[in-house]
Amino acid sequence: KVCRGDFVHALENDIKPAFGVSKDEFDSYISNGIIVWGQPVTDVLEEGQLRIRQTIKSEMTPLVTILIEGPPNSGKTALAAHIATLSKFPYLKFCTAQTMLGYSELAKCQQLKKIFEDAHKSALSCVVVDELESLLEYAPVGPRYSNNVLQTLKLLFKRPPPKGRKLLVIATATYRDILDQLGLLASFSKVIHLSNMSSGKHVLHVLNEIEHCFNDEEMKYLEKKLHDKKVWIGIKSLLDLIEVARQADDSARVTRFLTQLEEYNSSI
Ligand code: ATP
Ligand code: MG
Repeated sequence: KVCRGDFVHALENDIKPAFGVSKDEFDSYISNGIIVWGQPVTDVLEEGQLRIRQTIKSEMTPLVTILIEGPPNSGKTALAAHIATLSKFPYLKFCTAQTMLGYSELAKCQQLKKIFEDAHKSALSCVVVDELESLLEYAPVGPRYSNNVLQTLKLLFKRPPPKGRKLLVIATATYRDILDQLGLLASFSKVIHLSNMSSGKHVLHVLNEIEHCFNDEEMKYLEKKLHDKKVWIGIKSLLDLIEVARQADDSARVTRFLTQLEEYNSSI
């Protein structure tokens, strides 16, 4: 027999909203959590909070658009997804070229339009538009990009939601200059720069937050080696190096970790 309890169970566990928040999807972009390793992260998070409040409170700006821009692997996608979930808005949507793989230009434009139209139906909405360059199919050779997607994004980033509704757009990108040349930078109320980790202290902060990585003795050694060192590495790359070091189970893993960090710095 099927009873009410089964429907409730299905609603809570099996049915994913076609419309609105899919929390699992957002969580998947923040797979390793958010480590506040330094001022650059605090700055981005503060700006994000400010813009969430602006979206909720301001009558004059029902549409707030921000761009998080920074080097590859610096953590842009995770921070954008994190800020979106902090908003707790009832409609949250994540647009990425990954889920539009193989779509024609036209299909992409229609999908984007649909997402924004749905967002306009909710009182408070937040749309993340990840990796603008990929959505635009930008290639430095040529250079080429999809003008259709560009024009669609420009229009969507400009169209305010209907009266009484609010929309926050959080986009991410790697190459600020390219967006500037395409005239897309001007579409944003605020462009926030996210930097890589630049000092050994940032790296130590991450190492201290991650459990079962290095033992106390190893940490002491790393602190001595890293505390006044200059580095240049994105959080995603660092987490990768840590994961590799964690797999090795020998006495050389600390030095290997340091060598790889060094190699990473010199390769950029
Ligand atoms: P890409 O250039 O490939 O698009 P990205 O800059 O978007 O990379 P993410 O995909 O966001 O980087 O990867 C960041 C990873 O680091 C995520 O797994 C996230 O959980 C983790 N992370 C930990 N702390 C932070 C932080 N302070 N900011 C961002 N990401 C963090
Ligand atoms: Mg990304």
